[in-house]
Amino acid sequence: MTKTITVRRLPVDPGPAAWNSILPPAAEYPRLNGDMTADWVVVGGGFTGIAAARRLSQLVGNESIVLLEAKRLAEGPAGRNSGFMIDLPHDLSSETYAGAHEQDLQQIRLNREAIRFAAEMATEYGMPKAVFNPCGKVTAAGSSRGEQHIASYQQHLSSLGESFRLMDHAEMKDWTGSEFYHHGLFTPGAVMIQPAAFIRRAAEGLSSRVRIYENSPVTRMDTGAEHKLVTPGGVVRAKGVILAVNGHVQSFGFFPKRLLHVFTYASMTRALTPGEVKRLGGASDWGILPADPMGTTVRRSSDFMGSGNRIVIRNHATLNQSIEATPQNMNRAARLQDRSFASRFPMLKGVEMEYRWGGRLCLSLNSVPAFGEVEPRVWAAACQNGLGTVKGTLSGMMAAEQAVLGSSERLTEFLNHQQPRKLPPEPFLSAGANMTMRWKEWQAGIEL
Ligand SMILES: Cc1cc2nc3c(=O)[nH]c(=O)nc-3n(C[C@H](O)[C@H](O)[C@H](O)COP(=O)(O)OP(=O)(O)OC[C@H]3O[C@@H](n4cnc5c(N)ncnc54)[C@H](O)[C@@H]3O)c2cc1C
Repeated sequence: MTKTITVRRLPVDPGPAAWNSILPPAAEYPRLNGDMTADWVVVGGGFTGIAAARRLSQLVGNESIVLLEAKRLAEGPAGRNSGFMIDLPHDLSSETYAGAHEQDLQQIRLNREAIRFAAEMATEYGMPKAVFNPCGKVTAAGSSRGEQHIASYQQHLSSLGESFRLMDHAEMKDWTGSEFYHHGLFTPGAVMIQPAAFIRRAAEGLSSRVRIYENSPVTRMDTGAEHKLVTPGGVVRAKGVILAVNGHVQSFGFFPKRLLHVFTYASMTRALTPGEVKRLGGASDWGILPADPMGTTVRRSSDFMGSGNRIVIRNHATLNQSIEATPQNMNRAARLQDRSFASRFPMLKGVEMEYRWGGRLCLSLNSVPAFGEVEPRVWAAACQNGLGTVKGTLSGMMAAEQAVLGSSERLTEFLNHQQPRKLPPEPFLSAGANMTMRWKEWQAGIEL
């Protein structure tokens, strides 16, 4: 039986994807034109789509694989994030990122498999340290409330048998140049990436095996014995489809009333002058996650392919069930980010922000993915709960394994979760969630 799905919305991303903008112009992939057939189509070219295409290529022998991306690669959330590939539990809805003990142990095992898979790509496609750096990560506190979060996170890590190291104020100052942080907690298993460069290089590596089309949004899908995917310029017919479109899986009609569409925002400075770099001091590349999940993420990155030395500030979150952010959201985020920048880097007074942007996250109430065979031979790998560099990679791998192998040991472990829980009705949902987020931001206080 055939079913026609009209895609209700295409992605709209506010502001530029700065990590992509600071790189030299990217290799272009063609727009889909005319009719073609393929064995497999992956829709979406973020972390999930790239991982799904690569895992398919490892599993299906000579069968053909097409990847369709609505925009240019790395222009969506994949080129807008802070680039922390985190192995440890990172539940944004929890006070300290921690979840339940057994679930956390399982999540760590799976996250590490995803990071290994990404590391294989980094090695095979020759990514330098500036793109993929397995240097660990630091969670830091700049207030006594933040210190309490660090203390309970530390306890949780001990109970999981995970190693960590505390950094004191002096060490934090030497590392970042900033007096702001009281303490940091270093954990060794994370990888810091230049997210846009990672996506570009992974796509380039895959392109000898996978036909990639950019500016080719799927606007309609007819499912049946052979699926037909329609874009403005052409059509692909395929026997298997993986939808790696994150929250836009809902625009295809799947998981209605079960997905939370959250935007978070960031600003990136212009390239610092040599004098400003000297005034700032500290190491040339570092990243800090806030002890309070509603606080501010900061990254300092050194020159890579002419990008210059820059600082990125990320904070603020809004629930936008329309899957579009507003100019008011962007303005409020800009004000908060300017404040965060000024409190951390008084020595850089007068340095302007060159880029400001927002990006989509997709979360579920119970922090589980929207995953599985949603129509015969159509698999969804979506809803990465804010950690898409890792969970997206994992769900892309898992979708390919489910589609081709049917089962695997890793898949059994991955599938050990509930379905996304049903959301409360509007307007209670948006009003309640936005109020809770503002309250948590206020509580995060100086950590913002
Ligand atoms: C400011 C910010 C900071 C963040 N920091 C981090 C971080 O440090 N670490 C981390 O792990 N995560 C972070 N995230 C989240 C992370 O970016 C996402 O979770 C991740 O990008 C999700 O990956 P994905 O491939 O599933 O989806 P996406 O990256 O959203 O990719 C989906 C792709 O599908 C395409 N698409 C959608 N509809 C269609 C269609 N109809 N046809 C064709 N293509 C379509 C989109 O254009 C998009 O490119 C951050 C996000 C933001 C916004």
